[in-house]
Amino acid sequence: MDRRPFIKLGLFSLLSINTKVALAGEYQFNFTQSKQAYLNRIQSIKKSGALPIIDIESSYNPVNFDAEDFVRTMDRMGIAQSCLSLDSPRGGPIWSNESNQLVMKFPAHFIPAGNGGVYPAWTSNPEKFLDENERNVIQQKIPLMGEYEFRHYPSPRQIGGSTNRDVDIPIDSPLGHRLFAFSEETGIPFQLHYEIEDGLLGSLEKMLIQYPSAKVIWCHFAQIRYSARSTIYSPEYVGALLDKHRNLYMDTAFGGPKSIYPISGEPHARYWANQVAWNKLIISRPYRFLAALDLAGDRMGMFEAYTQRLREMLNSLPERVAEIIAYKAAWKLLFNENIT
Ligand SMILES: [Zn+2]
Repeated sequence: MDRRPFIKLGLFSLLSINTKVALAGEYQFNFTQSKQAYLNRIQSIKKSGALPIIDIESSYNPVNFDAEDFVRTMDRMGIAQSCLSLDSPRGGPIWSNESNQLVMKFPAHFIPAGNGGVYPAWTSNPEKFLDENERNVIQQKIPLMGEYEFRHYPSPRQIGGSTNRDVDIPIDSPLGHRLFAFSEETGIPFQLHYEIEDGLLGSLEKMLIQYPSAKVIWCHFAQIRYSARSTIYSPEYVGALLDKHRNLYMDTAFGGPKSIYPISGEPHARYWANQVAWNKLIISRPYRFLAALDLAGDRMGMFEAYTQRLREMLNSLPERVAEIIAYKAAWKLLFNENIT
């Protein structure tokens, strides 16, 4: 008798049990158990001649998400691990543990991340969202929180349509204090979406001073969508900010040299126009910069193009620095270990 169907059924049942466990919120990440699979994958990408990348910041919408296809693209593009946070879709629950299934199914590919602090879960019911974030991150030992939008202009894909990404929550509001305090107490980093504007920098600095141990990943390094609103942010300013606030990090997800923000008509990824100066800053403090793709449910088709753009930036850096930005800095931040 051919036993293979039974073996398949056995595996399927096991997956189903794991899924139920994850849905019940009883999932717990165990770095010691996951570590070797992560390292093996990093090593095998290195052996193939590519620079392995840990993507510290991408998100997905579980509706119509093709996990197998995503993982195949990771393999093809040399992405070692993805910190892929789930964005609860409209009409969905305020929090979902579904992304844990990805980690269980592909334990070498994914590093668990909390849900994205985005519309509608975060913006329509922020206190409840923070309750869920705190409970799940602690119970499940998740090493990274998702991207919290405090100030977010409408994204380029939403202009002319809905304005639900036009988010304006003061960073020094009670919600901001609660998030910074939680990160400070637990040592778990969170991702921050916060547009670069002169008028917004003071309150961010105030929070960084008040919560010196909060680990903040400020997403989209040097992404300025209105130059008239930003006269302070510069390589010198960011360098001084990083020196003052030792737990502040920058993610390097930004558009290509020709990417234009449609409302202002300006090229918003300022890195490219001043690459030498920005690279000098990165080279001087490499462990503070993290490779990121910023994939999301509405742009999964950009996976290869975004990776190529990220690699273009990494290739312009000395090899030793590129390795740190690509995966060593993320490893150190998330697992408090150096990786060789
Ligand atoms: Zn963002």
